[in-house]
Parts: sequence; C-alpha cells; structure tokens
Amino acid sequence: METITLGTSGIRSSRIGLGTWAIGGWMWGGTDEVQAISTIRTALDLGITLIDTAPVYGFGTSESIVGKALSTGSLRQQAIIATKAGLEWSGGRPRRDSRPARLRQELEDSLRRLGTDYIDLYQIHWPDPLVPIEEVAEELHRMHREGKIRAIGVSNFSPLQMETFRRVAPLHTVQPPYNLFERGIDADVLPYAGRTGLTVLAYGALCRGLLSGRITMDTRFEGDDLRRTDPKFADMQLRSRYVRAVHALDALAQQHFGRDVLSLAVRWVLDRGPTVALWGARRPEQLDAIAGALAWNLGAQAMKEIDDILEHELDAPLGPEFMAPPERAAA
Ligand code: NAP
Repeated sequence: METITLGTSGIRSSRIGLGTWAIGGWMWGGTDEVQAISTIRTALDLGITLIDTAPVYGFGTSESIVGKALSTGSLRQQAIIATKAGLEWSGGRPRRDSRPARLRQELEDSLRRLGTDYIDLYQIHWPDPLVPIEEVAEELHRMHREGKIRAIGVSNFSPLQMETFRRVAPLHTVQPPYNLFERGIDADVLPYAGRTGLTVLAYGALCRGLLSGRITMDTRFEGDDLRRTDPKFADMQLRSRYVRAVHALDALAQQHFGRDVLSLAVRWVLDRGPTVALWGARRPEQLDAIAGALAWNLGAQAMKEIDDILEHELDAPLGPEFMAPPERAAA
C-alpha cells in the first residue's frame, strides 16, 4: 500500500481510503450489515487504513457498522476513522447545519456510534452559509485541543472558505469530488492544497461505479439508489457517451499498461497530487482490484492521451452538483 501523511497532522494514511456511504444503505438501495462488516475488515487486511464515513450515511447506520467492524482485537488502533459533521436530517432530508452546539452534539453521537473515544479526522461535510466559518473553525479547534479529534478536515469547501478557516484553526485535509469525469478542482482546490500542504481526499474516485467499467446501457438501479436521478446515468443519451468514454479509457489502459479502466481511474487520482482516493465498496470482492491501482505511474504521455479521449468524447462534461444538500431556511 502507498501511504501519505494527512497535512501536518503526523497521521500516516493509506493512499486508498474505504468510502462507506453505500454501506449506510441510504441513497444506494439498502444495506447488508454482514457483507459491510466483512468489506471493512477486508479493506484493513489489504492495507487500507483510512475509513471514511459520516453520520448522514444511512442516518447513523454507516457509523454504527464501522464501529461494529472495528470492535474486535486491535482493529480500532489500526484504522484511521474519518467522519464528518454539519448535516442534519430531520424528516429524512439532509440540510446544512454547522452551528457550534450542533457540531458538539454530533461529535458525541458519532463517538457513541463508532464505539470510540476519539476521531482521527473530523471533517465539516458541507459549508453552511448561515454560520460564519470562523465560528465553525473555533469549535473544531477546541475539540482538537481537547484531544477528541486528531486532525481537522473540510469537505466541499472553496479555497476562499479554507483560507478563512485556516486563519482560526489548523486544517489538514479537504474532501472534494474528483475523478476522471469530474475534474472541477483542477482549477482551484487541487493547486491550493498543493501550495498549502493539505491532503486531498478525493471522493467518487470511481464516479459512482461508472469508472469500474461494469456499467452498461442495460444496468438498472434499484430502490432509492441515487444513480436513478444522477444525470450521467439517468439520461440515456448522456450515459451512452460516458460508457463510450469508459471503453476508450479501458482500451488505453490495456494497451499501455495491461490494466483495466478501474485501475487507470484510481491511479489517475493518485498521480494528480497529494491525494487519497476514496473507493466506495460494500462487498469484499469489490476490493480485489486494489492491487491493480498500486505501484505504477501514468506518466505525462498517458495523461495527455487521457485528456484527448475525454475532450473527444465529452465536450461538455457534467459535474456532481446534483448531490449538494440544501441550506436551512434563514431564521
Ligand atoms: P465511488 O467510489 O465513485 O463508487 C462507488 C461504487 O462503485 C460502489 O458502490 C460500487 O457500486 C462501485 N464499485 C466499487 N468497486 C467496484 C468494483 N471493483 N467493480 C465494480 N463496481 C465497483 O462513489 P462514492 O461511494 O460516492 O464515493 C466514495 C466515498 O466518498 C463515499 O463512500 C463517501 O465515503 C465519500 N463521499 C463523500 C462525499 C462528500 O460530500 N464529502 C460525497 C460523496 C462521497 P455497486 O455497489 O452498486 O456495485
């Protein structure tokens, strides 16, 4: 496993992290706890140390399953638990809420669900425009000084928002969307992280499964699976363009490296900067492919050929904005 230090925290993490949103079930068509626990333990066996979760993933379910998976032997000490705060979900619909009292309550709830007395990396899930960033940063700084959290992160923040945060508290990581098809951060967050020493936890590294190469025009999604409304999957004309791009990327990966598109997609994220690729998996066998993404590099020529394919197949690529949760109504 390749490793990286999370900002200036001193915490050494694997460069592939396990994403556990789907493990929570909500927006992914349900959960299977036995499979989920086995997936988390398999990830640790394979050298993945960072487990990313959040209270909102299954409204507590994902964190509880992570807690159960880490409850035996020394697994808790082996793992870097990265969880989040700042979304409330009354009525089953998430809204942004980073008021300090809520963050404090969320921390206690997360510690209980995870069965631990410290969080390794605590992240603000989405910026809340109704709370000054300085107040949010001050509360996380307090938790850090108390030893309840070992490192501080933000997610879906702009460089300007991070600059404000860093005037008040140390910041170690940022978690934006990033994959071959969703490259918005190339223009701002990624260079900012490089300049300021932040580690980037790239979410959706497989573009919600599209870059696994297993999704075809016939793939159907069940129940509340968010891919039923994700424009890249739901609009069949668009889907056909993305599937064609995946085929072209797969051919390039086979020709140049004897690997498949999934390995190429994860390697691409790892070769772009100080990144950790978050890999969403809910069945142990989905992690078999990890070795294919490690211990090689793409190089400048392949990077250029990838850009050419993307430019040719997708003249107006779509971002992941459809996933952004709404704000609260102002009081
Ligand atoms: P992802 O990693 O791009 O894709 C996950 C999906 O890819 C899986 O659920 C699975 O779909 C498919 N997959 C995984 N391995 C596979 C394999 N070997 N073969 C075929 N398909 C495979 O998407 P994500 O889960 O949304 O993102 C990763 C993590 O980032 C999340 O779990 C979460 O921790 C984090 N995240 C954070 C935010 C934020 O706002 N901070 C937002 C989104 C995600 P099936 O199980 O359906 O086959």
